[in-house]
Amino acid sequence: MRAAIFHEHGGPDVIRIETVPDPEPGPGEVRIRVAASALNHLDLWVRRGLPIEAPMPHIGGSDIAGVVDAVGRDAAGVSVGDRVVVDPTIGCGRCTVCEAGEQPLCDELRIIGEHTQGGFAEYVIAPAANLFAVPDEYPLERAAAAPLAFLTAWRGLVGRGRLRAGETVLITGASGGVATAGIQIARHAGARVFALSRPQYADRIEALGAERVFDRTDPEWGRSLHKATKKRGVDLILDSVGEAIWPSLVRALARAGRLVVYGATTGPHAATDLRYVFWKQLEIIGTTMANRAEFRAAMRAVFSGEVEPVVDAVWPLERAADAHRRLEEAAQFGKIVLTP
Ligand code: ZN
Repeated sequence: MRAAIFHEHGGPDVIRIETVPDPEPGPGEVRIRVAASALNHLDLWVRRGLPIEAPMPHIGGSDIAGVVDAVGRDAAGVSVGDRVVVDPTIGCGRCTVCEAGEQPLCDELRIIGEHTQGGFAEYVIAPAANLFAVPDEYPLERAAAAPLAFLTAWRGLVGRGRLRAGETVLITGASGGVATAGIQIARHAGARVFALSRPQYADRIEALGAERVFDRTDPEWGRSLHKATKKRGVDLILDSVGEAIWPSLVRALARAGRLVVYGATTGPHAATDLRYVFWKQLEIIGTTMANRAEFRAAMRAVFSGEVEPVVDAVWPLERAADAHRRLEEAAQFGKIVLTP
C-alpha cells in the first residue's frame, strides 16, 4: 500500500510517500480501507519526536474514516463493507480504570497513529471495539474530521468540565479543530459561548455559535470579556493556547470557575496567580482523549447533524508534508483531511 511515512524525526520534509506491505489484522482487530484521515497537532508532535515514543518508521494519522476491508479472529460485531470512524484511544483493557471504562487514565494508554501505525495510508489496523458506524449518507471525508476534535471537546466540556445549560464558556484558539467542535457542543448544551481567536476568523466562529469573538492580539481582550460578562467572569474555559495567555485566563474566570486544559501550543510554563485560585475557588482541570461513552456521545451528535466538523481542506495523501506545514503555520480553519 501507499503510505505517508517517515524514517526519522524532524521537519515536514522527513515525510515521504512510499509503498509498504499491507498490514494484517490480529485477533480482535480489523483492517480498514482508509477513505480519509485528518491531521492533528498530535501528528506534528509525533513527527518532531518529542517526547513521544512512536514505532519507526512511522505512519501518522489518528483520525480515520473508511470501510472495513478484513476482519481478524474474534473481532465481534463488525463486517467487511461497514463504513466506520475509529476511536483512536486504546487502553490495556485489564486494569481497574479500563474496567471502569476510563481508558484515558490507563497507565498503558495508547493512541492509534501515535503508538501504532496510523491512517495516512491506504489501509490501517484498528481494534473492532473502537469502531463507530458512519451513516450511509454521511461523507467519509467529513466523518474523518470528527473523532479526535469532537471527543476531546466533549470530554473537556461535558465530562471533565461539567458544563451546564446557562453557563458562560470561553473557548480559546478558536480556529482549531477542538475549538470549532467545542463552540458547537457548548452552544448545543445551552451555554453562552465566547471565543478567543485571531481576528480574521471572527465571522466564521460566530457562525458556529459564538456570541462574540475576542481578538487574541488585542491586549485589552481580557477587559472586553470582563465587560461582556457584566464583570462576573466566565464559568468554564476550554484552552490549548497555554503559556501566552494563561494569566489572563485565570483572571477571566468567575467564582467556582473551571479552566480545562487540553494542550499548550504557546508553551507549557504558565505562571498562575494563586490568589485567584483560592479566593475565587477555581479548578484547573487537565483532559486528554475521551472514554468510550464520551466518544460515542460525541459521534452521535456529529452524525445526527447537531454539530458539524469544520473542514479546512481535503488534499491527496501526496500532500501530507504540505498539510503538516499548513497546520504548523496555523494557517488552517478547521481540519485538514488527507485522502489516499
Ligand atoms: Zn488499562
